[in-house]
Amino acid sequence: MLQKLWITDLLKLFFPNNCLACGQALVRQEEVICLECNFKLPRTGFHLHEENPIARVFWGRVNMEAATSFLFFNKGGNVQQLIHNLKYRGKKSVGIYLGKLFGGALNESVLYASIDLIIPVPLHPKKQHQRGFNQSTVIAEGLSAAMKKPVVDDNLIRLVHTSSQTKKSRYKRWENVKDVFGIVRTYELEGKHILLVDDVLTTGATLEACAQKLLEIEDTKVSTVTLAYAQA
Ligand SMILES: [Zn+2]
Repeated sequence: MLQKLWITDLLKLFFPNNCLACGQALVRQEEVICLECNFKLPRTGFHLHEENPIARVFWGRVNMEAATSFLFFNKGGNVQQLIHNLKYRGKKSVGIYLGKLFGGALNESVLYASIDLIIPVPLHPKKQHQRGFNQSTVIAEGLSAAMKKPVVDDNLIRLVHTSSQTKKSRYKRWENVKDVFGIVRTYELEGKHILLVDDVLTTGATLEACAQKLLEIEDTKVSTVTLAYAQA
């Protein structure tokens, strides 16, 4: 395993432009991922349907105008590799590139035609400081480039540090996130249709808490999109 990692790193040293999904060297015209990986991305196609498994995650919990995920999160597969490269290896180009592809797809759907602005789910400042960036903001920037809508990443903020969610029950996770988000400037969001963005959808607890907060503002509508969907 270690040896394999070492060889991969060595290869990257000599061939810096490798596909961030499969590791193959990129040829000219290819950026971030190779044509084959692009073609094989497990797109959900859910953005064209008002009722879909992502929208269903929020039914009875919070009123989302529309909800979708771009890709299926295939464990051990290319999507996991891409998200890993984005989150833990600082490859922002992955978030921008996939965000643009995703935004292009959303432009084909009437469900997202009235979006006014894009808000990434905020990381706690401490975590953002450790990582150096918020992966959801990077994805939002890619979406913004394709959709021609502004990113507002300093209005919805995280108030307290939440401990790791992975070992908690669904209720505990909700308890953990329900009061942690705050709004800085209400007037900026009044009457707006907000597109809330995160990297991976799992239980939806964080997105639910963010949406609840945004829906406290007068006349707001919230839709949500994530890059990938990890089926529970
Ligand atoms: Zn590839």
